[in-house]
Amino acid sequence: MLNLQTATPALDAALAAWSECLGPEHVITGSADLKEAATATFGTSQSIPAILRPGDRQQVQECLEIAGRFSVALHPISSGKNWGYGSRVPVADGCALLDLGRLNRIVDFSEELAYVTVEPGVTQAQVFEFLRTRKSRLWIDATGASTESSLIGNTLERGFGHTPYGDHFAHVCGMEVLLPNGQCIQTGFARFPGALAAPVSRWGLGPSLDGLFTQSNFGVVTQMTFWLMPAPEYFQSFYFRCDEEAQLGPVVEALRDLRLRGIIHSTVHVGNDYKVISGMRQYPFAETGGQVPLRGDLLAQLRKEFQVGRWNGSGALYGTRAQVAVARRVLRRELSGKVRKLQFLDDRMLRFAERFAKPYSWVTGWDLSRALELIRPVYGLMQGIPTNHAMASTYWRKRTAPPDSIDPDKEGCGLLWCSPVAPATGKHALELTQLSERLVLEHGFEPMISLSMVSERALTCVISLNYDRDVAGEDERAERCHEELLRTLAEHGYRPYRLNIGSMDCIPQNDDTAAFVAGIKNLADPHGILAPGKYVPDSRPQF
Ligand SMILES: Cc1cc2nc3c(=O)[nH]c(=O)nc-3n(C[C@H](O)[C@H](O)[C@H](O)COP(=O)(O)OP(=O)(O)OC[C@H]3O[C@@H](n4cnc5c(N)ncnc54)[C@H](O)[C@@H]3O)c2cc1C
Repeated sequence: MLNLQTATPALDAALAAWSECLGPEHVITGSADLKEAATATFGTSQSIPAILRPGDRQQVQECLEIAGRFSVALHPISSGKNWGYGSRVPVADGCALLDLGRLNRIVDFSEELAYVTVEPGVTQAQVFEFLRTRKSRLWIDATGASTESSLIGNTLERGFGHTPYGDHFAHVCGMEVLLPNGQCIQTGFARFPGALAAPVSRWGLGPSLDGLFTQSNFGVVTQMTFWLMPAPEYFQSFYFRCDEEAQLGPVVEALRDLRLRGIIHSTVHVGNDYKVISGMRQYPFAETGGQVPLRGDLLAQLRKEFQVGRWNGSGALYGTRAQVAVARRVLRRELSGKVRKLQFLDDRMLRFAERFAKPYSWVTGWDLSRALELIRPVYGLMQGIPTNHAMASTYWRKRTAPPDSIDPDKEGCGLLWCSPVAPATGKHALELTQLSERLVLEHGFEPMISLSMVSERALTCVISLNYDRDVAGEDERAERCHEELLRTLAEHGYRPYRLNIGSMDCIPQNDDTAAFVAGIKNLADPHGILAPGKYVPDSRPQF
């Protein structure tokens, strides 16, 4: 972590100027609020001197100008639910939070051209509701994070979801970005007055700039256009499980091939037993007498009880009935002998299964009543329906039951994510997951692992350390485990697609790329006041 002193007179002057600009009610300095904002799902020591809540673009621009004038750093958040990676906490100490939650307008929408333009505070639930009330035929691509998490914050971290539009950054364009140096950038065609293709064509003319504003600290994004997916004529989801560890390799080979050949268009997720079970129940403290990590025999027992495989996959087929039928046939053929169970589900079957779960299980041998609890939210996600269901997994190691509405930061849920990327081959899937499982178990945690085929050629792996922050020493243990994971996986060639606030130093700083990036930072933010240290080293003088 970077520890920087903030000169108090400068901060006081900045606070006075921000209060005048935003109104004192939108400059929060109460110690309880600031302490809460500085709390993540793992140990942090950064302090936050204020939370600023601008209401429009003009006010964001003024906040930046004041920050530059008094050399006080700002950290922007859209909804601040960057759980597992740092929540609302800035990388550097002493940054004021620039909370963009009040910029929550849906600015533009086209049913015909299938896009929506939003401000940073717009949430998944908000766009979903917007489309539903219009009886739109369009879907968003939702993440498994809270319904109240933002579209823009997630996309700026290059997050991903479940449908064919699962790679979020690949389906956006036309950003509006305010730079700390006072400039306002429009990406793509939006910079050309009257350009009609601004919301529908990505690249514009000349250098493409969108990527510069993801995973960086060059500017504050105040608008972005998201392309929406037309609901297909027919949708069918599929689920499979493998009972043997070694089956993961051939399954990944088959899935890659199916994605490359265009048989499957959507993100496919494969989760290990720990991951799936943590979505269905909390840690079995009673059965283990409080011992952690989970013993192999108990894990096997839980697998049996919940009908969970060693590896468990889900994805969906989208198209006309005929297209889905063909894809289903090929999928069956390619996965045959590689998976234990392959089940397909559509709306009609789901309604039927919900009504007749028992007889259905007699006919098909699949006990749906229990599986439905887990399947329904995943099924919805594959149709762009956001859900809070996965939030319960943050309570895996907590001793109390999860409340209806979960705030993992406030409730001491330990959550530290490591997200390496690997080529989509069976060999790499096995090497990466075996290495990670061994390491995480050695540190006393359950290795919850998912592999997501967000694109055709790569696997994005999320290794989640779920623990109870109220247990003494757990934060430190999780941090050590996370550090060792990052280091060991990097030594094997598996680099993360996204970083948490404590790990920014794993980006190399001694090459030409780093020098080029530092040049851009210097140009966009000469005083280094925007999110210092976030993916780009802090260039301010250190005290
Ligand atoms: C149970 C669970 C499930 C999850 N599932 C998923 C999942 O399926 N996919 C996934 O990708 N993630 C997932 N997450 C991780 C995370 O919660 C999401 O990625 C979430 O969307 C990020 O939070 P946010 O949208 O509030 O972004 P924020 O926290 O607001 O921002 C994220 C980052 O972007 C920067 N930023 C935000 N807004 C701006 C802006 N306007 N201008 C410049 N920089 C900005 C911030 O500084 C920060 O670094 C999950 C987490 C949990 C706990």
